[in-house]
Amino acid sequence: MLNLVLFGPPGAGKGTQSHKLIEKYGLIHLSTGDLLRSEIAQGTALGLEAKKLMDDGKLVPDEVVIGMISHKLDTNRDAKGFIFDGFPRTVAQAEALDALLESKNVHISSMIALEVDDEELERRLLLRGRDSGRPDDANPDVIRKRIKEYNDKTTPVATFYKNQNKFTSVNGIGSKEEIFDSIEAVTEAL
Ligand code: AMP
Repeated sequence: MLNLVLFGPPGAGKGTQSHKLIEKYGLIHLSTGDLLRSEIAQGTALGLEAKKLMDDGKLVPDEVVIGMISHKLDTNRDAKGFIFDGFPRTVAQAEALDALLESKNVHISSMIALEVDDEELERRLLLRGRDSGRPDDANPDVIRKRIKEYNDKTTPVATFYKNQNKFTSVNGIGSKEEIFDSIEAVTEAL
């Protein structure tokens, strides 16, 4: 099984590169952001609670996203592999993911981090906000909060995978194709 964690700050290009990886390797895309937005669209209680935090640029509680991922792993038992996009975002989530996969006798193959500087991220998110319809992309204050949440709570997740010798970073600036070539070089070497 090929199980990749695509890592990087908001606006790094994780969604775009996930779709290219799915086309190439036939993996299942697990984006906690997409799953949460789908809960919001359906007007579920979980969605309503999550929306308040998301609109404010804050992370939703670990148990909420871990529960969603656990459910998706259970309902995709025949998958060739998974791309985790926007998850894990805290060390507690990374530990929970390891435990969930361990119970199914599978493992994370690698974390691939997209490196993009803060200035470029803000520029990309504001641009995306013009037509993504995402309230959290449209407001510079919320964008800065999301980047701060990432720096405070999510960057330690990279160390978690470095300690397991499963971390690689690639330059996240360039054309979509150039960036994908770098990611492909990592996956082909696994
Ligand atoms: P994303 O689409 O990955 O940028 O996520 C949008 C928002 O959903 C984030 O700013 C968080 O509020 C929430 N979110 C998505 N994934 C997670 C996660 N793994 N842990 C906590 N909050 C998350």
